[in-house]
Amino acid sequence: MRILLTNDDGIFAEGLCALYDALCEDHEVFVVAPEAERSAVGHAITIADPLRIKKVKRGNVFFGYAVNGTPADCVKIAIHELIGPGIDLVLSGINRGANVGINVLYSGTVSAATEGVILGYPGIAVSLGEYREPDYCFAAYFASCLLDALKDYNSEEIFCLNVNVPFLPAHKIKGIKFVKQSTAPLIEKFEKRVDPHGNIYYWQCSERFTETDPETDVVALKEGFITITPLHYNLTSEKVLKKLASWKIEF
Ligand code: MN
Repeated sequence: MRILLTNDDGIFAEGLCALYDALCEDHEVFVVAPEAERSAVGHAITIADPLRIKKVKRGNVFFGYAVNGTPADCVKIAIHELIGPGIDLVLSGINRGANVGINVLYSGTVSAATEGVILGYPGIAVSLGEYREPDYCFAAYFASCLLDALKDYNSEEIFCLNVNVPFLPAHKIKGIKFVKQSTAPLIEKFEKRVDPHGNIYYWQCSERFTETDPETDVVALKEGFITITPLHYNLTSEKVLKKLASWKIEF
């Protein structure tokens, strides 16, 4: 496969390098990723500033293109300018930290995969359910298995998959679950602090999910399953759209 590899943790992030190393022997992998971490920028794009591209080496060998933009910018500029349209897949990750539930909306990792779909290519986002110095080996290996499985999957539809791998030893992983995205709210808080000059500032942190349904990404991941959730970017609510048809708005 010809794969565009990107992420939101930045081009030198361990998760991206692990994915590259796991795939580069069997696939043609093109790296176009943000030059610095752009986690939680969602589907943002850069329009008020120019995008600048730098060629990046790893171990003295050309590795890929670093972009001073967002993950969605990376996918757009990769396909329109840097590597051209002839790819089979946009792969994003491996993100440091899970992208499940409502957090999927904030995720730059997921948005890069979604951007692939918008441009006409299948997209896969891969995230690891651990933030503190995780080891990406198993998640990268699983991604390579997933790509092998895709070879036999013929679909008319251009799919976007959100994959989350629990941070557990391989033998403790319970299996793979195809699940829906949780929409239960997060318990969030703002920590109020004082800086050295006496000014108050706030640090936003999400505490935990309120979800309890085992058939959701949030709970299945927590229970030790690899979760796979197909996503689409059409935000229309068909249900409400039907109801609106009977509305009478006078003007
Ligand atoms: Mn990230």
